[in-house]
Amino acid sequence: MNLEPCKPVLVIGGGIAGLTAAVELADAGCPVILVEQSPSLGGQVTRLHQYFPKLCPPTCGIEMHLRRVRDNDAITVHTNAEVTEVSGTRGDFRVTVRLGPDYVSETCTACGECVAACPVERPDLFNYGLSKTKAVYLPRGVPYPVRYAIDRAACPSECSACEKACRYGAVNLSAAADWRKYHVSAVIAATGWQPYDVGRIEYLGFGRCANVVTNVMVERMAAADGPTGGVIQRPSDGRPPRSVAFVQCAGSRDENHLPYCSSVCCTASIKQISYLRAQQPETAITVFYIDLRTPGRLEEFRSRVLAGAKVKLVKGKVAKVEEKAESGNVAVTAEDVLSGRKETLEFDLVVLATGMAPRTEGLPPVFEADEYGFLPSGDGDGLLSAGCVHRPGEVSSSVRNATAAALKAYQAAKRSERHA
Ligand SMILES: Cc1cc2nc3c(=O)[nH]c(=O)nc-3n(C[C@H](O)[C@H](O)[C@H](O)COP(=O)(O)OP(=O)(O)OC[C@H]3O[C@@H](n4cnc5c(N)ncnc54)[C@H](O)[C@@H]3O)c2cc1C
Repeated sequence: MNLEPCKPVLVIGGGIAGLTAAVELADAGCPVILVEQSPSLGGQVTRLHQYFPKLCPPTCGIEMHLRRVRDNDAITVHTNAEVTEVSGTRGDFRVTVRLGPDYVSETCTACGECVAACPVERPDLFNYGLSKTKAVYLPRGVPYPVRYAIDRAACPSECSACEKACRYGAVNLSAAADWRKYHVSAVIAATGWQPYDVGRIEYLGFGRCANVVTNVMVERMAAADGPTGGVIQRPSDGRPPRSVAFVQCAGSRDENHLPYCSSVCCTASIKQISYLRAQQPETAITVFYIDLRTPGRLEEFRSRVLAGAKVKLVKGKVAKVEEKAESGNVAVTAEDVLSGRKETLEFDLVVLATGMAPRTEGLPPVFEADEYGFLPSGDGDGLLSAGCVHRPGEVSSSVRNATAAALKAYQAAKRSERHA
């Protein structure tokens, strides 16, 4: 293989897919510019408590990739950055990257004195608003580099308490953005997914019933570094639930919302049943589903977790979710299509298995989405996609399609070299 350096490839998004594409390209001798919008690497995976099917901590896979990123000079990482412009054709793209503004510089020692001085709190978006941080905060996931960040939109006007408190002069509230221009051979968009805004499905009660939460919130509750210290509990009173309903396809496979199957939600709910089992073995669990889709080797995981007692499966779409005023309990109405009976059952907590929506906002307009909002693989034009912005899936499928995108980008880089 020719390992002569070639024209760089731009990778947008530093989640598991973007990191995979970056390290595979760099290992093949191709320089990479990796641009991540947030101050951290790792993406959504760092918000999970455990990975199915092995139930290991998600940091396992991310850590290995990070070591390869740190050890490889061919990868330039820009966090807190955005690609503002892409023009040109395969093998010959001009791109502009906006860096920052970085209100906290590399002299930050992460001592935390700025946090003590900050007078305001904001919802902690990493925990889906289940907790709060100060306007100056240590980014979660894998901060890269490790330093505090500031949510300027949350700062009171004229306040400079953090700047004054920093004895290292690391805070500059007047910092401005910087710009870099690159000449690259291909661009891989790996901007991932976001949970579907389930508040738009009025009858499912999210935002209306305190004890209706989403699957991504359960991941944060179950995590030891999460808002409840690892305990799955009712938001209304902090009590561990004695009965829990999982409502599958909350948005997915619904032509009014996400017309496709999000592919991971069934296995994610089964994983969350295993969290509950470990914490509260006596909790009664009911799963409302259309089809339980756990393909391939995930079938065995499903059988293992569902084998125990206290999991009731109801094949039927939920029609109504309502709060009981006195107890805060949640009444779920659904028709069991196998028995033909319509039932209303009461639960301490309801978990909505929210679908995955592709995340394309902030991408330059050269990327064109398909009818569902996902990006095509983009084989011939050098504008490629990887991970869940290409198709919803679990980590292993995101890693596989990111490796495929890296190969296509590598071919574009090599071809442009020959024609230079
Ligand atoms: C409830 C739930 C549980 C799950 N549990 C598991 C599990 O146990 N096991 C498993 O294998 N899979 C699981 N998954 C799936 C897993 O989360 C995804 O496969 C994985 O996150 C895909 O990674 P990604 O890199 O494609 O996207 P993401 O993780 O979303 O990463 C995308 C990155 O791009 C960045 N970005 C976005 N827009 C821009 C932009 N414009 N410019 C620059 N950067 C940008 C984001 O900040 C982010 O860092 C679960 C999914 C759900 C919904």
